[in-house]
Amino acid sequence: MNSFTVIFLIALTLSFSVQFWLAKRHADHVAKHRSAVPEAFKETVSLEAHQKAADYTLEKSRLGKIDSIISVALLLILTLGGGINWAFEFWAATVQSPLIAGLAALASVFLVMTLVEIPTSVYQTFVIEEKYGFNKSTPQQFIKDQLLQLVLVAAIGMPLLALILWVMDSIGSLWWLWAWGILISFSLLMSWLYPTVIAPLFNKFTPMEEGSLKERIQGLLARCGFNSQGIFIMDGSKRSGHGNAYFTGLGNNKRIVFFDTLINSLDDEELEAILAHELGHFKCKHTIKMLVANAVMTLVSFAVLGWLIDQPWFYNGLGVELPSYTTSLSHAAALLLFMLVSSSFTFFIQPIIAYVQRKFEFEADNFASSNAKAEKLISALVKLFEENASTLTPDPLYSAFHYSHPPAAIRIANLESQIRPA
Ligand SMILES: [Zn+2]
Repeated sequence: MNSFTVIFLIALTLSFSVQFWLAKRHADHVAKHRSAVPEAFKETVSLEAHQKAADYTLEKSRLGKIDSIISVALLLILTLGGGINWAFEFWAATVQSPLIAGLAALASVFLVMTLVEIPTSVYQTFVIEEKYGFNKSTPQQFIKDQLLQLVLVAAIGMPLLALILWVMDSIGSLWWLWAWGILISFSLLMSWLYPTVIAPLFNKFTPMEEGSLKERIQGLLARCGFNSQGIFIMDGSKRSGHGNAYFTGLGNNKRIVFFDTLINSLDDEELEAILAHELGHFKCKHTIKMLVANAVMTLVSFAVLGWLIDQPWFYNGLGVELPSYTTSLSHAAALLLFMLVSSSFTFFIQPIIAYVQRKFEFEADNFASSNAKAEKLISALVKLFEENASTLTPDPLYSAFHYSHPPAAIRIANLESQIRPA
């Protein structure tokens, strides 16, 4: 145990207690406002729907608390408890090549973390989502999804990880710049491939049928000067009753995707307003800004890792015994430790990111109001809040910290100020 252990424990305790305190505030706030529909929604949301949203939020919040206790316990077992050290020693003794041993150690730790998450995920899907009528997945579908994800992560993630480990061992002191370049190019490639190669592995995408809705949408796209590779409907209903619409892909490979659940619950003008909001994100360059911000944060992370990798206290402080390692193994260990512990030190950035995201949501809403009808976006949002059982009464501090979208009441008040007289 060195002084970095103490610093790590303080950071972990701090981030954990802040999140726990916020979650408790949120649950208390939702429970306190369960008995009455907020004034602004008296006309549009029933008491029954409001109370369903409160109960659903409270149950998810309880599961969230258990899940974060499990994650912290696992993190401590892996680091200070010696789990990672054990995995590296085991693979170093089993496999000749230090690169392969490091890769195997990383893979086994990730596998353990994935397995530990499964019970929470099963409970979430088959108990909570089931109880509130959202779950449409079968156990067979669930197992198939989990296996397919695991295979994809192994097939795509392992070669990438191997390349980064090789760069760490072979390129010298500026390895982190190369590793950053590789990771960023790789994630751009993935975003480009996602709509046509990866997403279809999990869902079926059907081009939208000709008709009044498609004409309306094409009219909106033409008005906004937007090119895309098509408008698709996704069979989201095979897993869940939650609805959504999104944009996907990069450059010439952009697609617009509506969940079938959304098409079934909104009318044509509401769907147009929702799409206008999504187009707003694109037109206001939110996608590009987020990509750049992400690239900068990744660069800073890699630079910090480039420095930490030569600091023995970093390994020792987190339960890894450096002297018995070859350079290659210690690089792999540093990468793993950094991925596991950095969020305890950077959690305070979360509210800043959430603030910027909410600002983007207002900008996209304003764009939608000038290219479609604000009142239609409002009615679509109210339906979505109701159908997704999202709470209308989040705790203000909790939502300021976590919400990527403004709370319903604030968002709708902004839209109401933009309704144009007919
Ligand atoms: Zn948005």
